[in-house]
Amino acid sequence: MPADDRMADGAHDPVVHDPAVDGERIMRICNACRYCEGYCAVFPAMERRLRFTRGDLDYLANLCHNCGECYYACQYSPPHEFDVNVPRRFAEIRAQTYRQYAWPASLAAMFDRNGLAVSLVLVVILVLAMVVATLVLGNGLIAAPPDPSGDFYRFIPHGVMVGLFGSVSIFVVLALVMGFIRFWRDMGETFTDFTRPDALWSALRDVLKLEYLDGKGAGCTYPGEERSQARRWFHHLTFYGFALCFAATVAGTIYHYALGWKAPYGYLSLPVVLGTLGGIGLLIGPAGLLWLQLRRDPETGDARQLGMDVAFIVLLVAASLTGLLLLAFRETSVCGLLLVIHLAVVMALFLTLPYGKFVHGIYRSAALVRYALEKSRPMPNVSLE
Ligand code: SF4
Ligand code: SF4
Repeated sequence: MPADDRMADGAHDPVVHDPAVDGERIMRICNACRYCEGYCAVFPAMERRLRFTRGDLDYLANLCHNCGECYYACQYSPPHEFDVNVPRRFAEIRAQTYRQYAWPASLAAMFDRNGLAVSLVLVVILVLAMVVATLVLGNGLIAAPPDPSGDFYRFIPHGVMVGLFGSVSIFVVLALVMGFIRFWRDMGETFTDFTRPDALWSALRDVLKLEYLDGKGAGCTYPGEERSQARRWFHHLTFYGFALCFAATVAGTIYHYALGWKAPYGYLSLPVVLGTLGGIGLLIGPAGLLWLQLRRDPETGDARQLGMDVAFIVLLVAASLTGLLLLAFRETSVCGLLLVIHLAVVMALFLTLPYGKFVHGIYRSAALVRYALEKSRPMPNVSLE
């Protein structure tokens, strides 16, 4: 269904609570007030418009990083009758965005009860992996003789691992790209503009620095009204941990195919050092984000998304923990068992990437590119008079 039709559906039915309809109401109030215009990118973007299409609301909602600052500052927040709660309404709109742009559409339902869905995927893959590994390896799975070389491929051949994870990665990338294309198109931007280097560079800088979580040096109001840099630092650890693990995979691929150096690699080799540092980041960062998440002010979030947030964080922690354990015990007799568990967790993480919290990174980055494009254009004539 086209984006604006989705909003119109809710607008014509007074019984249906549509966050986008209420989001538009709130944006009209904010546009008249403009007290929060220095807090984040949302308010300057809002001020460029007088009307808010569904695509605009998806854009603004994904530009919001849910810090809560405008809620604490607002004279119209509950219990005021205007009931202005930007962070919560935008969190609800973001959830609609995730569902709307999911590809294939038949899997969009995974966002509804995401915590349960992700847990089921994990359990099914784990059980399947254990059954197949037991059938193939027999006693060797749990009682293989220790091997000082720490060679993983004595349990699962390199070609099988590459085939399995390669095909899943292609599907995951395709699903994420399709979601991005539809989101970008509904925001009303051209794909030519998306490739503008100045806009891409500006958005990349914001993402790498987490510019808006910095609060101009004071931090953001998360998990409560007190300002803190904690969320930004835990987010950095998670993001760069993920990036380092990816870099470790790329380095391993270059070693294997370009240089002809076969795994296992030494503890001081580039793939292992990158993977270890990434794994540590992915342990501390997500654990810290979970700690903050559980202490956050319930007024500024959408409680229905807690399962999705927690499921993603738990998978990240499980993937890094099992990866580090595998590295530590790769020369022992439990190597095979740890390898199967680690690969099952990573597979569950990969498969659920396009249907969980990870998509936030895609849509938020796209919104930041659009924000950079808008900033480079002359201010439209949107006088409130
Ligand atoms: S959130 Fe409240 S204080 Fe901030 S711009 Fe909107 S109406 Fe004004
Ligand atoms: S919650 Fe934070 S990021 Fe979102 S609109 Fe308010 S101030 Fe901006």
